Amino acid sequence: MALIKCKECEKEYSDNSEACPQCGCPTEMNVDTPQIDTSDIKCSVRIDGNEKLSDTYNGLMFLLLFVAGLISIPYVLFGSYTGLFPFIVLLIIFLFRNSITSKKRVKAMEIFKFFKLKYPILESVGRNTNLDQITTTSNNADGALFDIYMQAYKKQADAVVINSTHSSSTESISKMSKNTPLYHATATLVKYKK
Ligand SMILES: [Zn+2]
Repeated sequence: MALIKCKECEKEYSDNSEACPQCGCPTEMNVDTPQIDTSDIKCSVRIDGNEKLSDTYNGLMFLLLFVAGLISIPYVLFGSYTGLFPFIVLLIIFLFRNSITSKKRVKAMEIFKFFKLKYPILESVGRNTNLDQITTTSNNADGALFDIYMQAYKKQADAVVINSTHSSSTESISKMSKNTPLYHATATLVKYKK
């Protein structure tokens, strides 16, 4: 998927390879393991977009800011700054909410990276122990994979096998919202035989 640089010979190669093709240095040595405080994983982190503020929320917030800004103009023109108060309060709420959600998103991406390195995706269960069969649903492939990893983490699996993936479009309950395609994945959680 991505090119990484070998720490031994500095050759660039794909991180899909298990080792550097030039010198044989194992890929895991060349990939920086993200530092994750595992207590962070317990919270219900999602990366399928639910951590992002919706466009509706942002649009509404911009509209409110615009209206509050307009209302404050006559006050400011007459030398009274109290009229700016609602505008400033709204602006602070807006910036604060955005910074919290972007921090959550960064954290979720760190955890996702940690999961990707922790749980190899196997072709089949083979001689390993089949821990559980799970199905996840999300609005994108990364979200579904993230949920699989999250289950693997909770059940202390060693690896996962992705059995099937497919997308479906669901009828939304309200005609107001767009139909969002859902992404389904089934996976087997695997424990290595000791
Ligand atoms: Zn190398």
